[in-house]
Amino acid sequence: MTDSSERNSRGLSGWWVIAAWVVTIFLVWLRYGAWLGIRVEGNDPTLIPTGPLILPTLVLIVALVLTVIWARGWRRGRAEPSPGLSRRRFLLGTAVSVGGVAASAFGAFARNYRWLTVTSRNIQAETPQKDPNPLAEWEGSRVVEYRRLGRTEARVSDISLGSGRIHPERGGEEVARAAIDRGINYFDTSPDYSAAGSETALGRAMKGRRDQMFVATKFCTPRGDLPAGSSVSQYMEVVEESLKRLQTDHVDLVHIHAVNTVTRLLDPNAHEAFERLKEQGKVRFLGFSSHTPNLEQVANAAIDDGRFDVMMLAYHHGAWPGLASIVERAAAQDMGVVAMKTLKGAKHRGLLESRAEADSYTQAAFKWVLADPSVSCLVISFFEAQHLDEYLFASGKRPTSQDHALLQKYDQLIAGRHCFQHCGACLDACPENLAIDDVLRYRMYFEDYRDEKEAMRLYARLDRQADVCTGCSGPCLGSCPHGVPIPAQTKGAHRMLTLERA
Ligand code: SF4
Ligand code: SF4
Repeated sequence: MTDSSERNSRGLSGWWVIAAWVVTIFLVWLRYGAWLGIRVEGNDPTLIPTGPLILPTLVLIVALVLTVIWARGWRRGRAEPSPGLSRRRFLLGTAVSVGGVAASAFGAFARNYRWLTVTSRNIQAETPQKDPNPLAEWEGSRVVEYRRLGRTEARVSDISLGSGRIHPERGGEEVARAAIDRGINYFDTSPDYSAAGSETALGRAMKGRRDQMFVATKFCTPRGDLPAGSSVSQYMEVVEESLKRLQTDHVDLVHIHAVNTVTRLLDPNAHEAFERLKEQGKVRFLGFSSHTPNLEQVANAAIDDGRFDVMMLAYHHGAWPGLASIVERAAAQDMGVVAMKTLKGAKHRGLLESRAEADSYTQAAFKWVLADPSVSCLVISFFEAQHLDEYLFASGKRPTSQDHALLQKYDQLIAGRHCFQHCGACLDACPENLAIDDVLRYRMYFEDYRDEKEAMRLYARLDRQADVCTGCSGPCLGSCPHGVPIPAQTKGAHRMLTLERA
């Protein structure tokens, strides 16, 4: 870039400029790359510290200043640029600045190249999302059975639309509209499904047909659940925002979302917000949804409380013993019961060619759930047109012996390998207080649902991540009654759900 004679005559050595840019590129790669990784994984941006960005930013500025000094040939002690300004050096300095900034940015992005991998079309295409050999008789399937949703007195489609993966930019509006055409009249949505995209898509799809639909949403923000102790106005505001996105003046049902403690279930502010919204005609009924680990405790508390009109629970074949009696108790109190997670972890990709046992695993699993008369309906994610044919073919049907055989085959396939209950029975075995059930649920979203970005976003928001398993002796091993090898699963989950920053 320069030699000693030039340095002496023109001031700053070019080697200083080169050194400054090398340091800049390294620091930007290191710190901006890490920051970007945390950001794209879906962490709350307000919680990501920006302090580590100060040093690379300052070094970047220094590199730019040194480049300008070098390009203009300033000498120490001179206020004005050299009259012999070299056009060649000016152009070279500009090129060095642009190249240095570009190389720094490239470094930060390159550090997160795996993000491209998890979102690539290639990976999506490799994963079957539907039966590759649909039967002709499935074509044009419609809802044939409507069931009473407890004391709401609504009659809802036995197979209904869960919209966790619906997004306006991925054809969600069209799928939702087609679902209405096929007789689905119950939509389950939430502000945090597809970062509010689900409500937006459903709002557009329902235009002019709102009166045909029973719409359920959640007390929640696009970023996640409202914690216990949120103010009444916060609870009310999130519903107001949902109404705007759904383009409606009311929702039929609002759930307290993903309840894992009785404290959240009975938060007086949530209940007061519901009462006020009900008085204003903006909501009609109250419900709650729950996965685990305290599902039984939460569900029993809700039944005893008496204020909940509907419960939405993870309910699938082979559900643990207490669950069927909970569903029965709820129905006896005239609560509507909505089943979710009915595919028991969606590990059925290996069963897509199961014609020997039954037509379709998904249909067998739905029929098993709907055989329980206490269940009002099940919700399942439709996000492709073929799902309407495949899933709705099970509407109104009861399981056959072939279906039971297929479900048994499924259980054999996943036995001892897969956390499908998310029951939390292992939690006490972890000295690090890792939410093993959540970690493995998000792994399921990534690996089986193929909803990679959403899984990473949810995982990023956990208080503790499974990097704590590295170096742990694994006292949790053997604590799962279903034989899940927890340490291997959680470590694998961490690799899957993060960009593994150094
Ligand atoms: S690993 Fe086993 S014990 Fe732990 S949540 Fe999953 S199924 Fe339950
Ligand atoms: S391996 Fe992980 S989940 Fe198991 S006890 Fe250790 S930290 Fe907890």
